[in-house]
Amino acid sequence: MSSDVMVSAELAGPAPRGSAGVLEAYAHSVMNTFGPPKRVFVRGEGCYVWDADGRRHLDLLAGIAVNALGHAHPTVLAAVTGQISTLGHVSNFFATPAQVALATRLAGLTGDDDAKVFFTNSGTEANEAAFKLTRMTGRTKIISTEGAFHGRSMGALAVTHNPKYRAPFEPLPGEVTFVPYGDAEALAAVVDETVAAVVLEPIQGENGVVVPSAGYLARARELCDAAGALLWIDEVQTGMGRTGSWLVHTAQGVRADVVTLAKGLGNGFPIGACIATGRAATMLQPGSHGSTFGGNPVAAIAGLAVMNVIERDGLLDQVTATGEHLVSVVMGLGHPLVSEVRGRGLLRGIVLNADVGPAVADLALEAGFVINAPRPHVLRIAPPLVVTPAQLDTFVEALPGLLDAASGAAS
Ligand SMILES: *Cc1c(COP(=O)(O)O)cnc(C)c1O
Repeated sequence: MSSDVMVSAELAGPAPRGSAGVLEAYAHSVMNTFGPPKRVFVRGEGCYVWDADGRRHLDLLAGIAVNALGHAHPTVLAAVTGQISTLGHVSNFFATPAQVALATRLAGLTGDDDAKVFFTNSGTEANEAAFKLTRMTGRTKIISTEGAFHGRSMGALAVTHNPKYRAPFEPLPGEVTFVPYGDAEALAAVVDETVAAVVLEPIQGENGVVVPSAGYLARARELCDAAGALLWIDEVQTGMGRTGSWLVHTAQGVRADVVTLAKGLGNGFPIGACIATGRAATMLQPGSHGSTFGGNPVAAIAGLAVMNVIERDGLLDQVTATGEHLVSVVMGLGHPLVSEVRGRGLLRGIVLNADVGPAVADLALEAGFVINAPRPHVLRIAPPLVVTPAQLDTFVEALPGLLDAASGAAS
């Protein structure tokens, strides 16, 4: 092996000291924006991840709806190593075949032949691009919703609702009005000819997997059309097959002017996209936006690999079936703490009758399952799309014990 070749373990520094040593160094050197990490993970394969102490966990969160094909998927691995071995980065002064192929593929998801893509490195940046695009309408008002999450940069934060995230950073850009989510009449009351855009998640992931009533997106489309406003749909969490269709809104027959994507698109390789259709597709022009890394060929090839595997392996239908299996086995438990399982496909919220979500998530981790609690009364299950019913069953079998232990500790 040449001296140029360093395996990732060598690059990560001195001999592993187990989780405790890494966490100590983390506390010293990493900004405390996330609170103390709950585990140190060193390896993943399929739906499993191993921590620095050698313990295996079933990954039912997938890096927050990111690792769609699971860890170390051979097709992604081959595509990414092949691309980075050939050409890793060129900047946006130049084009690459991977970037253009992925743009074509993503634009095609909208059903508009003239849709165009701006590539980013995250969901936040995809929304930031969308936010800037809305200013090209000559209007500045944006309608967002209570409970909305669109990211943490100043623009994305401006359309994010959580007062805890917003308050320290005000004033935020834009004139943003928040209306109750899922309430078409509340939208109708504020969408007029002064509104640049309405921004909506088709399902609110961070707010606890909240599903609006049928027809909500279609009504938003009508209201935007009548007012000449843009409909900006944030599919960062819901898109790329997570709910059993490529995009939630197109599956409902709704056209968006702007669609944002990230999370599942690169299977863990950082990539996001802002896709615009119709008149919105040409609103951003030279000088109006940019990115050094956006559309990087390695990121783009990861996205292409993900899309190819989802299609090749029939994962959209599989996600629908696996998601329905999860609902039926969880509800089949008849556990008094579980009130419902909401969501679609493999973006699910197990809604609890008490605020024991964080305690259940911690106990689940102890028991070898990665989940999280986006709200105190909601457990989020967003596993790799390739998860099997049998793998989900191992969690569901453990769930009553976790719920009982958490409620016992709480009372
Ligand atoms: C995660 C998320 C974002 C932000 O994406 P990042 O990649 O974390 O910047 C934006 N919108 C929604 C709906 C998300 O779930």
